[in-house]
Amino acid sequence: MKPEVVVVGSGMSGLAAGVALAEAGVGVLVLAKGAGSLQLAPGTIDLLGYAGERVTDPLSAIAKLADRDPRHPYALLGAEAVADAARWLSSRVAEGPLAPYRYVGSPEQNMLLPTALGVLRPSALVPETMAAADLRHADRIVVVGFRGMKDFYPSLIAENLMRATGGAVSVRATQIDPPSGLDGEPGTFRLARSLDRPGEAAALAARLAAVVQDDEVLALPAVLSIGDPHGVWETLQRVIGRPVCEIPTLPPSVPGLRLFDTLRALLRRAGGRLVTGSHVVGTKGSGDRVEAVRVHVSGGERSYPTRWVVLATGGVASGGLTLDPDWRMWETALGLDVAGVPAPEELRFSSRYLDPHPLSRAGIAADRDLRPLDADGARRWENVLVVGAALAGAEPWREKSGEGIALASGHRAAQLILNAERRVQETVPEGVAEPIA
Ligand SMILES: Cc1cc2nc3c(=O)[nH]c(=O)nc-3n(C[C@H](O)[C@H](O)[C@H](O)COP(=O)(O)OP(=O)(O)OC[C@H]3O[C@@H](n4cnc5c(N)ncnc54)[C@H](O)[C@@H]3O)c2cc1C
Repeated sequence: MKPEVVVVGSGMSGLAAGVALAEAGVGVLVLAKGAGSLQLAPGTIDLLGYAGERVTDPLSAIAKLADRDPRHPYALLGAEAVADAARWLSSRVAEGPLAPYRYVGSPEQNMLLPTALGVLRPSALVPETMAAADLRHADRIVVVGFRGMKDFYPSLIAENLMRATGGAVSVRATQIDPPSGLDGEPGTFRLARSLDRPGEAAALAARLAAVVQDDEVLALPAVLSIGDPHGVWETLQRVIGRPVCEIPTLPPSVPGLRLFDTLRALLRRAGGRLVTGSHVVGTKGSGDRVEAVRVHVSGGERSYPTRWVVLATGGVASGGLTLDPDWRMWETALGLDVAGVPAPEELRFSSRYLDPHPLSRAGIAADRDLRPLDADGARRWENVLVVGAALAGAEPWREKSGEGIALASGHRAAQLILNAERRVQETVPEGVAEPIA
């Protein structure tokens, strides 16, 4: 099949674009060098957690941010596109392969969820299995860990949460042995897979019932199954008789893997393809249009002809952007100009971690149609759209906006391509062109 849209990158932004296009009937090929951030990140959709102060209503804060900072990706997208994308993702997960597992929350309100360090994290859309830990509502929590599990220390979480909530939430900690059938160290994926075995969830529930008190929310590391999270969570709540919730772990992330699996399955269900191990190294094209994407294969290159390209290659962490020893930054797939790189005499990083780091805003400048701009501010390609962490102008780590930007821009790119194709369909006489959707 000749793809009509090639998406480069299989993180949240690339898969959101790919699924939305494939479900609209477009031929989609997703090419990715490797896994994106989804399997590492907590699996929550943080639209905007901080804009100076902690954000309670992300949608209003995004609208204000867009007014204040016209170069921010949210200014290109607008708050309404963010809300559309959030609703779209919730509906896709609810109809995905893990249903009735679903996401809860709204773009108008941040929940306050605990991290594995006991810090409060503002997040708008979260797996149903995490919501009971929303510290705006919980009074008493018991955090239960598995003995031998690394990077999840219930007493650290409890102490920090008590401090962070000024004692308003009472949190205690305890540990239990990991499930008996576990083979080897209790890592996140191993624990999650063990709970997918028949009878394991009920056995765990019986042991947990002995440690939870009448008025407590029971919080566990986010390992409640890969294949049937709703079933395992429901079993625990039913047997224990108390609300149960997952606290996201440090990477790798079980809820992140569930979200990746869901989006990949939706892509395939709609006829799209994902080919990992595909390192995109350039394009073929003429004038203002890319005609094919070039992929490095052993001993040479392969070209994939396409009508549209969605560049979803992420930032420095995923190899979408690289920095050479002379502080020059490169976009690795299509060779686009990188904007926002501080000049050699300017500050690149601050000395304090949580302060602004000018270099982290570097990326591909784009217009409101997500088309990439060159160093002179002119459109580089008419049929390339840039999405996600590849876009210039945000500081996702400080803002807690990474997944929100990726989701909203990926979804928006799909709408822009579909709209453009509809316009072709309306204006070109029948038989002259072959629109894609
Ligand atoms: C450990 C961790 C924790 C995080 N926690 C949070 C959080 O709490 N809240 C939040 O909002 N955000 C968080 N983030 C950030 C957030 O996950 C990212 O900002 C977001 O997922 C970016 O998505 P993306 O699709 O733009 O890029 P990515 O997910 O990085 O995907 C990029 C894709 O492009 C591919 N690629 C790159 N170059 C090429 C090439 N030349 N050819 C082919 N493929 C290529 C990669 O292999 C990958 O598939 C976290 C990230 C990590 C890693």
